[in-house]
This record gives sequence, structure tokens and C-alpha cells, in this order.
Amino acid sequence: MHDETKCLKVPAANGAFASLSVPVHRASTIVFDSVDAYQNRRSAMYDGYSYGLYGTPTTRTLEQAIAALEGASRALVVPSGFAAIALTTLTFCAPGQRVLFPDNAYDTVRPFADRFLGRLGIKPVFYDPSLGSRIADLLDSSVQLVWVESPGSMTLEVQDVPAITAACQARGILTAADNTYATPLRCKPLSLGVDLSICAASKYVSGHSDVVMGSVAVNNEDIFRQLKDHSRFLGQGVSADEASLVLRGMETMAVRLDRCEQSALQLLPMLQASNAVREIRHPALPENPGHQFWKRDFTGSTGLITLFLEPWTRPLLAKAIEAMDQFAIGASWGGTKSVVAVLDQPPLRTATPAPHHGPVVRLSIGMEHPEDLRASLEKCLSILAAATPDGIANDKDLGRAQP
Ligand SMILES: *Cc1c(COP(=O)(O)O)cnc(C)c1O
Repeated sequence: MHDETKCLKVPAANGAFASLSVPVHRASTIVFDSVDAYQNRRSAMYDGYSYGLYGTPTTRTLEQAIAALEGASRALVVPSGFAAIALTTLTFCAPGQRVLFPDNAYDTVRPFADRFLGRLGIKPVFYDPSLGSRIADLLDSSVQLVWVESPGSMTLEVQDVPAITAACQARGILTAADNTYATPLRCKPLSLGVDLSICAASKYVSGHSDVVMGSVAVNNEDIFRQLKDHSRFLGQGVSADEASLVLRGMETMAVRLDRCEQSALQLLPMLQASNAVREIRHPALPENPGHQFWKRDFTGSTGLITLFLEPWTRPLLAKAIEAMDQFAIGASWGGTKSVVAVLDQPPLRTATPAPHHGPVVRLSIGMEHPEDLRASLEKCLSILAAATPDGIANDKDLGRAQP
């Protein structure tokens, strides 16, 4: 069955009532037929129903749909994408042990690693995301978990995930992937040797900027049960209402991703042509770091584009961004509507140098008509071009010499 079909698969009808939509089952208390069944309710934690927090038919349907798409035997939904990262890390790392994160990890990973894991005695190590099989140099018996995020947040370097998972497997070290960029429609980390594939369903999977949720998909029952136990210890659960929004979003994910990808690809040349843009990142561009791994391991790209702007654009940056009438200014991405996020410095790096020193702009290309998006971007770029210092207009090399 193709992924597009799996997104639309309707669960078996329940009794006499048959609808094309998944019912929303709200619950805290679950009732039992007998005292015996009640007293044994904990055994229903993983598959049946024991308490609303631990699963309802709606959340279990969503978990099965995500598992099918990820090529996993099991999936667990949690309250956010970051909750999936935190749960995975806390479940599989012990005090005195080390966990490796790529230097371009999602931005909350760094304060979580430094301030929270540190307090628990778990030692985070940030590594160069491009190191591939050289990850072996960082592995010893103190390493319990290695994260990959490919493409990485903001800078979109694609990693050699199979090389990293092979090195970890050889030493019995677990690997986890943040697959939020690609969604399981564009990449299946479990098939690349990863043990745990997490995804922020808040982005493309739900797809309408109105839900926050995360998932963890695995192919190992013991890993699943450990995760499920720890999600209980941390009091994590997902409401049926929100699970139903994600199920609805999944039905259109394939067409939404195609649309966003196609529009982004159409807009890349005009962005590349601007002298305000020093470097543009999108995995489908041959010059994007790790493009060869993207070609090998992914079935497509998405609507996310990162622009490294010339430092001289700074004085007019806010004005140029605010002139983009089709782009909302905001932090998240992957919805139907185009969003722009601005950093006036590249994100913090500790294992690798920052790629550039100018402002960084992330575009999440949405489903508006691409010509309307083009008009917005033209406005933005023409305002930025006006910031060009006299005498260096249209000269990227001289622009590069500016502070
Ligand atoms: C947004 C995002 C997350 C966190 O997801 P939330 O649901 O917002 O907590 C994690 N990883 C990546 C790559 C993201 O883009």
C-alpha cells in the first residue's frame, strides 16, 4: 500500500454506526465489567484501555496510522514534538552517561541539554552533523543515545544517517531521529537503522497550525513499553480532540506536502538571484550540505527554505519582512499558510562554526498561489536591495567583505 493511501485508511467500523471519520472518544475514567477486570487494568496500558490519559480509541487509531506510515510496529503520541525528544532522552539516558546531539538540533534541545540533563547528571555532547561514520570517534561505553536531525533545524544540513546508525549499532548504542522536517512521507528513519523516529506532528502532519503534538515510532516492543511507562511517569497524554485533528490533517498531508514542495522549488531561483541573499538552503539544491544523502535517503523535499542574508541587509530587515503580505511572522512552520521567522544572528553552534554572520530567515512556503508568494518575496528583496551600500550593488563578492 502506498503512503498516500495509508494516510486515508479508514479504521474498521464500530458496530452499527459506520462513519468515514474517526470518532472522538473523550475519557478520564474507563469503566470495567468486573472487579477483577478493574484490578487488572494496568495490563491494558499498552494495548487496551485503563485510563483516559493512557489512550482512547481515537489516540490509538492515530498511533496505528503513524506507525503504518513510519514502517514501525508501534507508535506513541505525546503532547508536543519537544515532549517526544524529552521523553526519548529521559527514558534511555542515565546519570553519568552521555547523549549526543547534532550541533544543528531543534533550538530547545540546547537549553534542555545544558540546564536540565546536566542537573540530572546526564552529559550532553554536541557534534558536527556532517561527520558521518566519524561519529565512531565519539562513541564509547558511556554513550547511551545518539540523536540525528536531518535536515537540521534552520541550517538544513542533511546527515549521513545510515553511516551514523551503523557505527552506533556496532557498539549497541541506541539512535533516535528527529524526522520533523521530512515527515514519514519523505523519509523513514527506521529503514535507515534508527531505533526511534520522533516527529513534531505540530508541523506538516497536523498541517493547519492549530495543534501541538509529537510522536515516537519504534520497531521494538521492549523500547515501546519503556517509553510508554516513562510517559506515564511524566504524566503525558494526548486528548482525543487533538488526536482527531491530527488524523484529519494526515488525510491531506501528501497533497499539502507536494504543493508546498512544488511552490518552494519554483521560488528558489528568484531567491538565489538576489544579491541580498548570501546563501540559500533547501535540501533539493545540489549545493545544500549533504544533498547527496538527501537524494539517497529521501523521496522528496518540503516547503522549508532558509536564507542567509548579507550582513548589510540588517538595517532594512524588519521593514522588508513586514512588507511580505502573504507571510505571517511566527516561529512554527508546516501549516497551510506561509510563515516567516527571522533570527538576526545564526543559531548557536558549539561543535562547528556558524555558517555566516548575517541575519537568517526561514520561510515556510504554504499553499497560497505561488505567484502571490513570489510577489511578496519580490517586495521583500527589493527593500533589502535598497540597503546595499553605494558602489557594491549587485556585487556579491564586495558585499561579502562588509562587516
Ligand atoms: C517544532 C519542532 C520540534 C518541536 O515540536 P513542538 O510540537 O513545537 O514541541 C522538534 N523538532 C523540530 C525539528 C521542530 O521543527
